[in-house]
Amino acid sequence: MKRIDFRWPEAKAGVLTTSWDDGTTHDRRLVEIFNKYGIKGTFNLNSGKFGLDSSQSGWEAHISKDEVPTLYAGHEVAVHTVTHPWLQRQSSDMILGEVIEDRRNLENIVGYPVKGMALPFGSQDARVSTILKAAGIKYVRPTAVSNSLFELPGDFMNWTVTCHHNADLKLLWKEFCEYQRTGDKIFYLWGHSYEFNRDGNWEHIEEFCELASQSKDIWFATNMEVFEYVNAWRQLECSVDGGILKNTSSIAIYFSHAGKTMCVSPGETLKLH
Ligand SMILES: [Zn+2]
Repeated sequence: MKRIDFRWPEAKAGVLTTSWDDGTTHDRRLVEIFNKYGIKGTFNLNSGKFGLDSSQSGWEAHISKDEVPTLYAGHEVAVHTVTHPWLQRQSSDMILGEVIEDRRNLENIVGYPVKGMALPFGSQDARVSTILKAAGIKYVRPTAVSNSLFELPGDFMNWTVTCHHNADLKLLWKEFCEYQRTGDKIFYLWGHSYEFNRDGNWEHIEEFCELASQSKDIWFATNMEVFEYVNAWRQLECSVDGGILKNTSSIAIYFSHAGKTMCVSPGETLKLH
């Protein structure tokens, strides 16, 4: 039997993906930093809170609907529900409405299917998860940290993170760069832009982005780009002896075989020698 093993696009050594909740106006400064260093973000938005100033929200000011397409261009916009309730405490009908309505609102603004999601308050259980799946959600990010820090999830409906942004990012990044045990390593960072403002530590994220951007063998991707690549890889059609590979997706799939890195193009059927 022939064997192939997972590789990231262009045989990069790993991926950095990031996730940011709530869509407050502090996202402007965060996106500016990301754009400076080529880092990608996924921004989880509550469409029922667009344009609220701090007196209306009783908290932080929120990005306006009109600003969404330009501010988040080149990044990903994802679901965070319309009004940010604890989903475990909601009726099943309300959960479905919160997710479908947020999808519809966001899709009308950004012009692509919005199928990623971060959970408000990280609140989830089996019932919630079933409803999110039925609402077309492809991956779900809780607030929990992964047991295996740099590994891909088996189930993207519970895609645990590497760390919150308050962690010792420089130390973790060093460990990540030295982590050699798998070919599918990932650094998954989450947080809130308003916390940098509140804590007066914008340099914390800027220094991390500068450090990460120096790693030329890392793929900087949105959450959905990671999901789509891994999903395409997992759906690769293989003959039972592993010798014939057929890529039915629209994404070039990289793998290693007999010590070599190879690629099967979209639509291609490849025979291994
Ligand atoms: Zn939130």
